[in-house]
This record gives sequence, structure tokens and C-alpha cells, in this order.
Amino acid sequence: MKKIIIPKEIVTVNESNEIIRDKAVVIEEGIIKRFIPKEDVKEYSDEFEVFDLSELTLLPGFVQTHVHLCQTLFRGLADDLELLDWLRKKIFPFEHRHNAESLRFSAALGIHELQTGGTTTILDMGTINHHRSVFEELIKADMRAVSGKCMTDMNDLYPDFKEDTKKSLQTSYELSEEFHGANGGKIRYGFAPRFVLSCTEDLMIEAYQMTQDFEGAFYHTHSSENKGEIAVVKKMTGKENIEYFDSIGVLGENTVLAHSIHTNEKEIEILKERKVRVAHCPSTNLKLGSGIANIPRYLNEGISVSIGADGPPCNNSLSMFEEMRAAALIQKPIHGPTSMDALTVLRLATIEGAKALHLEKEIGSVEEGKKADLILLDLNGSDKSLLDDDENIYSDIVYASNKRDVKDVMIEGRWVARDGKSTVYDEKEIVAKGREELLKLLARAKT
Ligand SMILES: [Zn+2]
Repeated sequence: MKKIIIPKEIVTVNESNEIIRDKAVVIEEGIIKRFIPKEDVKEYSDEFEVFDLSELTLLPGFVQTHVHLCQTLFRGLADDLELLDWLRKKIFPFEHRHNAESLRFSAALGIHELQTGGTTTILDMGTINHHRSVFEELIKADMRAVSGKCMTDMNDLYPDFKEDTKKSLQTSYELSEEFHGANGGKIRYGFAPRFVLSCTEDLMIEAYQMTQDFEGAFYHTHSSENKGEIAVVKKMTGKENIEYFDSIGVLGENTVLAHSIHTNEKEIEILKERKVRVAHCPSTNLKLGSGIANIPRYLNEGISVSIGADGPPCNNSLSMFEEMRAAALIQKPIHGPTSMDALTVLRLATIEGAKALHLEKEIGSVEEGKKADLILLDLNGSDKSLLDDDENIYSDIVYASNKRDVKDVMIEGRWVARDGKSTVYDEKEIVAKGREELLKLLARAKT
């Protein structure tokens, strides 16, 4: 388990955004023990496995705070629709037909894509049934994750796809008892009522109370994504989404709200006061035509913002590079080209994601004492800046890189990708098995 990595440079994303060029990283028992001068590495070579990656740039692994591993099988099957139709016509009927095996390969494909693209931590929302399969794959792949089954006890959009309130709560609680803290603490539970329109007030409130029984557990839902959704929420509750959540007492620093696009002044105040975490999903927000969240405003207000790719059927990629680029670009026509600079966006994709999940003491930056969740990028191609001063490195990562530039990925000292290939999965095999499961699922959907 003792390793030394010699990178070209270390993009630390620490408090002072230091870039270190003359040091190697010593890793013991999954922890970044110290940085040592590159010329001292030979003194360690008897005892340590040395990885000379001196052409590559070392960064903290990305943290995505809103994904749906259960939807990976459905990529490309639900394009060009508006949110409520997307759910009613495609996603709810598909999720309803998942069995344990189709869900397993959906999770495996998603984890493979995330890890080989440099994402080492996720906040994942599951589907109603069979969520155990997702946990089993997360553990197999050593993914760091907060995950939980989706809770849905009413559904006017697709009435077949719902569960009894008590059963939803009980199953969630039992899964949390079994998996919260699993795999050496890499797994934590996230109670996940889907959104206001598919949850009774009792379910929303009791699920929130359950999070209090598990230290470090999360409350993860969607909010204020689409104007049509908001109009129905208003009709149902008399309130806007976030005002409603606040009125039933489910907002706090363990609450992550995906999207939060259409928010009024009072809601922005509530987000700030309650220390709610906003998970920004720029590509999905564009593709579903939902709108553009005012992220520069949230950041000015000191609201926690981090980034997620959301689900493959509404993006259709799980690459953090595409999300970073979109997060920067979509604000510029509205707030000007100086809003959302590259470094700000890279921080949202790493340390701010860690902070959102209360993991900033463990991950999110490359610092002594933190866990070795690390990625190595090749920024030497003809499609990159020709200079490698600090500013150009951030520019290359956010504006000019893609997942193919990710060469090596480590989670807590274990390589999960080497030279662009997963060490966990055989890509051809999971694609073939995933396809087989998808075809069976689509056949089930016809009956
Ligand atoms: Zn989502």
C-alpha cells in the first residue's frame, strides 16, 4: 500500500490554490503522508512502489453532488423532452421496470464512466426498488459515495411507480442501518425523497428525522428545477419549493437540493440561513430547457454550491469536464465574461463538493493528511495551452480538457484506473451485459 507518485506538478486546490512543481507525493495506507523533494525519491525506493508520472498533472479527484446511477442504462432513450414529460413518458416507466440485475449493470456502467473520467466521490439518488445492487457495486469499485434509494409515495405523473409511505421509510432506514459507514466509511446514506410532487408531507418530514439517527447522513432531493413543476407545487402547497421545504423543517446543512434554478429573494435568504447545499447541474438544466441558476449570486451570498452531472438520460454524459465548462460558459452571457472564472469552477468541482458533503477534512484538495483521492491528467496535447504557468493550467483543465485526458485515478490509495482504463471493470463486458439487461427491461416495459 505504500506508494510514491512523481507528477509533473500538483494542482493542490488548497486554501491558497498552490501549484507545486518540485515535489513528489508519499502515500501510506490511503493517506497523503507528505510531499518530498523529487530528488529524494530514490531514498524511498526500497520500501515504496514508485510511480514516475512526471508528464502528468496531479489533482484532487472530482466530487459530483448529484447523479443517478440507476439511469445510466437509459442514456439516449429520453432526449429532447421537458422535465415533466421526460419523467412521465420515459424515466418513471423505465425505472419502474428495473430489477436487481439491470440496476447492477446500470450502476456499474455509471461508476466506470465516473471513475475513468476522474470523479472519485458522488452523491447518488437511486430508484425505488433494488437499491442494494447499487451499494454492492459502489463497494466493489471502492467509490466514495453518499447514496440512497429514491422515496416516492405519490405519483400523479405515472401512478404505477410509487410505494407505500411506511414501506418507503422502513426500507430506507434498513438500508441506512446496513450500509451507512460501509467499506471503511467510504459509503454513507442519503435519504432521497424524489421531489415535492412525488412525496407526501409525512414522508418528507419523517425521512428528514431519520437522517438525525445516522451521523453524517444526508437528505437529498430536487428543487425549483422547472417552471411547470413549480406551478404544480404552488397549487399543491401554496408555496414555492424552498419556502415549502422550510415550512416543514427539512432544510439544514445536511440537505442537498439539486438544481434550485427558479428561486425568489426569500428562498435565497432561506438557502443561506439554513446552510443548504445547492447541487448545480448546468448541462441537464440546458438540455431539459429548465433554465440557468444564478450561481454567481449564490456564491456572493456565501451559499454552498457544488456540481453534478445528474442522470445520463438528461445530460448525456457524466463527465465533470463537460459540467465545469458548461458551468462557466452559461453564466457569461448573463453576468459577463468575468463571472465564473476557471479557478472558481475547478474549486466547485473539488473542494466545494467536499465541503457540501462535510468531507473537506478528508478529500477535495491535495494536502498532507488528506485521503489519497487523486487523478492524473495529460495536459501536453496539441489541444492544450502551450504555456504551463498557473493560470494556463486552470484554463486547460476547465476549458480545454475532456475525460480522455484522465490517465490515472486513485481512491484512498487504490488505483481504480491506470492509463485511461478501469482496473475495476472490463468495459466491453459491462457494456455487453448492460445492453442485455436494457433489452430485457424494455421488453418488460412493453407488457
Ligand atoms: Zn436529478
